Amino acid sequence: MGMKVEQVLHMVGGAGETSYATNSRVQEKAIFEAKPIVEEALREVYKTALPESMVVADLGCSSGPNTFHVVFEAIDIVDDQSRRLGRPPPEILFFLNDLPGNDFNSIFQSLEGYEVKLKEEKQERIPPFYVVGVPGSFYGRLFPSRSVHFFHSSFCLMWLSRVPPGVESNIGIPLNKENIYISETSSPAVVESYQEQYQRDFTTFLQSRFQELGFGGRMVLSFLGRTSKYAPSGELSQLWGLLAEALNAMVLEGILQKEKVDAFNLPFYAPSMEEVRAVIQSVGLFDLDRVEIFKSNWDPFDDSSDDRIYDNIISGENVAKSIRAVIEPVIARSFGEQILDNLFSRYAKNVARHLLEEKTKHHVFVIALKIKV
Ligand code: SAH
Repeated sequence: MGMKVEQVLHMVGGAGETSYATNSRVQEKAIFEAKPIVEEALREVYKTALPESMVVADLGCSSGPNTFHVVFEAIDIVDDQSRRLGRPPPEILFFLNDLPGNDFNSIFQSLEGYEVKLKEEKQERIPPFYVVGVPGSFYGRLFPSRSVHFFHSSFCLMWLSRVPPGVESNIGIPLNKENIYISETSSPAVVESYQEQYQRDFTTFLQSRFQELGFGGRMVLSFLGRTSKYAPSGELSQLWGLLAEALNAMVLEGILQKEKVDAFNLPFYAPSMEEVRAVIQSVGLFDLDRVEIFKSNWDPFDDSSDDRIYDNIISGENVAKSIRAVIEPVIARSFGEQILDNLFSRYAKNVARHLLEEKTKHHVFVIALKIKV
């Protein structure tokens, strides 16, 4: 199918009803959960390097409130740490990276508003900071050698650089028909192809960041993972399976062409922690400092920690909105914009039905890494 993620993947821009900015509460909760880990890592980096100018990069920053949470959280931590150590606050340079299709304009248009708010909140001077946009894929080099102190990335690394090549045969015959991700009906070869793509991509990611990090450099990475050892029974296989079900139903009703749905696969992979550790170990450039796994309800607005579903219909709709904000451009490119409302209203119903059977949750992996010395 040859989908190049760099050209296609981006969250829905702007601040409208279907935008990522309006529908990113699951990701916001992950930023909040990871905060103590980011804090510890940033304090350590500062203490080790004692820089006058500190360079922080957020990889896969997207646009909207979450982008700014990360920036201002880092400013706060670095400022506080410099005070504790009796030093003048360093200047901070932020690199905000995402793929070129990201809505960088909206980031820069709303930056000033956020800055004014922060200054009001803190009622004191905040350290001077500079924000630079860096379009490009983090599966490759983005920065000069040894130029960054700290990397942060939240909710990105489950996106692969491409749809794995093994989802179609050498002559282009689709091998993962009726699925859009690995599922119980995917062949072992397809599953393996996804796993190999993940290993290649995460390896490239770690190697690139190693080159770019300076002495004492660290990173905190959060991403969706799975708790099952067997890849096709992971939580994400269920989440995407319900979207595949909606696409297949539209084929049966003649709304979509079967060939198109059969050939469609997501450039996505939710690894197990064993797989994550295995790549880190084989790359051999980083020590794994901390590992945490947080559970998060599929419904962004359900903050309960029990297994009760309060209103499965509303939850289904909430899940559909949050997934749509992420995947709409990819779906629209393959199937056209006109199917979006129909598809996601079916998806909402499928999710609602599923939640009555089982309150499946996301598993957010947060790992802190430091470069080996
Ligand atoms: N960090 C934000 C955004 C998460 S959404 C938050 O926590 O809310 C995931 C983001 O990763 C998207 O904006 C997507 O464009 C970006 N992304 C995916 N693959 C990427 C790649 N290879 N290089 C850079 N950004 C990527």
